[in-house]
Amino acid sequence: MKVLVPVKRVVDYNVKVRVKSDQTGVDIANVKMSMNPFDEIAVEEATRLKEKGVATEVIAVSCGVAQSQETLRTAMAIGADRAALVQTDVELQPLAVAKLLKAIVDKEQPQLVILGKQAIDDDANQTGQMLAALLGWSQATFASKVEVSGDTATVTREIDGGLETLSLKLPAIITTDLRLNEPRYVTLPNIMKAKKKQLDVFTPEDLGVDVTPRLKTLKVAEPPARSAGIVVPDVATLVEKLKNEAKVI
Ligand code: AMP
Repeated sequence: MKVLVPVKRVVDYNVKVRVKSDQTGVDIANVKMSMNPFDEIAVEEATRLKEKGVATEVIAVSCGVAQSQETLRTAMAIGADRAALVQTDVELQPLAVAKLLKAIVDKEQPQLVILGKQAIDDDANQTGQMLAALLGWSQATFASKVEVSGDTATVTREIDGGLETLSLKLPAIITTDLRLNEPRYVTLPNIMKAKKKQLDVFTPEDLGVDVTPRLKTLKVAEPPARSAGIVVPDVATLVEKLKNEAKVI
């Protein structure tokens, strides 16, 4: 069983992003970029499926700029067997990514696609769901546990107020939540091995996909700065302020 894992190159989660002065977006010049954290969890899960003998091959795929090759090398250092980059400088929105991924799925015929539940840059939480719709496959989003047996995946997912367990017929789409696993550290020998693994490069045109953006960003702005807190002498004053100043009780 082949497992496909889409991985996105995003601004590292430790970076404090700055809005550009013209409010067209955030400044990513000279900023550390890394693999989207939920995608690392997806690569780890696929690798564990391979180590358990459930998956036969793990393929990482990224869509975006040429530097996304670094992200794919990291995926291969974690455990992916090979990788594919759909290279473009166009700003990719979730529907375009889902269409590109569908083209790769049609080529590779995996039984399972494991994506992150959301990319921490656009926070869209759309690509996995759109891919499932385009393929007409079952989907289980926000997975915190995945078990695959035969042609069925059993997925525990985090929902409001508890856990839900779904049984899916493969082929299927799964998106990862934070608690699914803890990705392993990438070791130097595995980084070296990853350099020799196969990485194919395509363009959206090769795959016959139009990636023209459908959404227009009107403005990006910093959230309003929080005003400083105050220390109150006693509970009575706190209640009085909550009632009369903040008007929240
Ligand atoms: P989003 O819908 O943008 O929040 O992204 C959800 C998931 O879709 C990510 O965690 C990735 O697994 C996948 N994804 C989104 N954009 C890309 C991309 N450009 N290349 C590869 N995978 C992507």
